[in-house]
Amino acid sequence: MSKIIVLMGAPGAGKGTQARLLHERLGLPQISTGDIFRALAQTKTPLAEEVRAIQQAGRLIPDEVVIRVVEDRTSQDDCRNGYVLDGYPRTAAQAEMLEALAGRQHKKLSAILIDVPQELLEKRMTGRRSCPICGEIYNVYFRPPKFDNRCDLHPDAELIHRADDTAEKVRVRLETYNRETAPLLEYYERTGRLHRVDGTLSPDVIHATIENILSKTAATVQQ
Ligand code: AMP
Repeated sequence: MSKIIVLMGAPGAGKGTQARLLHERLGLPQISTGDIFRALAQTKTPLAEEVRAIQQAGRLIPDEVVIRVVEDRTSQDDCRNGYVLDGYPRTAAQAEMLEALAGRQHKKLSAILIDVPQELLEKRMTGRRSCPICGEIYNVYFRPPKFDNRCDLHPDAELIHRADDTAEKVRVRLETYNRETAPLLEYYERTGRLHRVDGTLSPDVIHATIENILSKTAATVQQ
């Protein structure tokens, strides 16, 4: 049975980095609702302005909008053999929708919590920069690029500092996470589908741990 891998964790925990590695190394499509809405915010549609304002404030986009986008994206052909969700679900209503979706798509869900202490998260986000061309993620404190504000692979490109990665917006996002999203962990734990990974380790070690978890849960499915 194919799989929905739900990457859980606070903003700044490293979900995006791990989703990219799962995509590169296992070929699973990476579905990042944050990325989808950031791209939508750049368009000239009536929804764009609203999405941009919500994202920049660090608040959540209404459930009915997010749910429709996820339903649509995951019904595309490349998701047939499974996919990785990065940044979804974030509310109880979104988690409920995902259960129904998994049932309809005949997929088994595994939630992986990338666990990072709160005090580290702020630095991770305020220091985060990404390449507009390849999406590579840097951090001015922990993983600076070779040249100031330039991607190592695309030196012509100036790195992006997300508008919601400022100290003030980061605080709002962490509060929203603790209030709306953290309670979902208990739900996945209770239903035996939560796996915890130490998010302070290196991206490669975290990825290896996730692969290990996935191969173990695949073995359980086959039994
Ligand atoms: P992220 O890149 O995952 O940190 O998401 C950035 C922003 O996109 C969030 O602060 C929200 O404004 C919006 N967003 C992303 N995913 C969701 C979601 N599942 N539900 C509601 N809003 C979302």
